[in-house]
Amino acid sequence: MDLFQHTLKKKVSFSGIGLHSGRQVSMTLRPAAVNSGIGFVRKDLSEDVFIPAFMNRVVDTQLATTIGLNGVTIGTTEHVLSALAGMGIDNAVIELDGPEVPVMDGSAGPFVYLLNRIGRRRQKSCRQMLKITREIAYSNGEKNIKVVPYDGFKVTCEISFDHDIIKKQVYTFTYSSEKFIQEIAKARTFGFLGQVEKLRENGLALGGSLDNAVVIDQYGVLNSEGLRFADEFVRHKILDLIGDFALLGCPIMGHIIASKSGHGQHLGLMREIALHPESWEFVKLEKQEDRILEKVITTTMAAGNKILPFFLPPPATGEVCAV
Ligand SMILES: [Zn+2]
Repeated sequence: MDLFQHTLKKKVSFSGIGLHSGRQVSMTLRPAAVNSGIGFVRKDLSEDVFIPAFMNRVVDTQLATTIGLNGVTIGTTEHVLSALAGMGIDNAVIELDGPEVPVMDGSAGPFVYLLNRIGRRRQKSCRQMLKITREIAYSNGEKNIKVVPYDGFKVTCEISFDHDIIKKQVYTFTYSSEKFIQEIAKARTFGFLGQVEKLRENGLALGGSLDNAVVIDQYGVLNSEGLRFADEFVRHKILDLIGDFALLGCPIMGHIIASKSGHGQHLGLMREIALHPESWEFVKLEKQEDRILEKVITTTMAAGNKILPFFLPPPATGEVCAV
């Protein structure tokens, strides 16, 4: 894990369509100041609206993770947040001229490509991490998710579908940005044909096509190019999980183990984490000679509440764009 916080070397702009609206959206990723975290800005309204990418701003987890502030929302936040977290970007501003992040090819691959092209810039402050010291769990029927202590960041996901193409898939991902690029970033979102038709009838998934999702019918995969990995489905679940957990506002040290979970369960576990500060510490990594040491910043609930970004009020519009 990186010792220092990172942002982007420069800004980058591109455009694509929104999965649900089907509308063209322009997006700009910009560098941001140290300790500002990741934030979204809606640029298409009479006044810019800044929405921090924190769990206390989540307003919907039905089909994707939507964050909002005073009725202004940004949908499908998880793939771009996954790309930023996977590439070790701590501070950035994501500007959009519409209500949804462009779906691109349904994975985090195109965002990773752009981030790689512009590069990262090391910042002066150390990273602060949330280190899990005791198991924290959340369950909802047969959907279970927990996080246990681990010296690094690891995710295990299990999915199970009554379909020959998917069946049961389990994948464990041990974080490094190189592994994120190789194993996770390119895995696309997926849906069943019947589901997609229903969503369309309800005015959703209007931008959805075989160019931005793996679509499955009763016989198999409809995409002519087939799958990118035999277990692309569970890898995409890990991609989504990493993107959703970026909403904690800082990297996590622990092993997240999820079974049949989705955006709602990810948020459920993040809320449990926030409610149980006795089960984690806030740490900073420091280099001393050749060794990496962990320095505990706080162990008390009061101090934890003060430091954790999701307990803080959101910064005023524009405040984070200091770089
Ligand atoms: Zn997804």
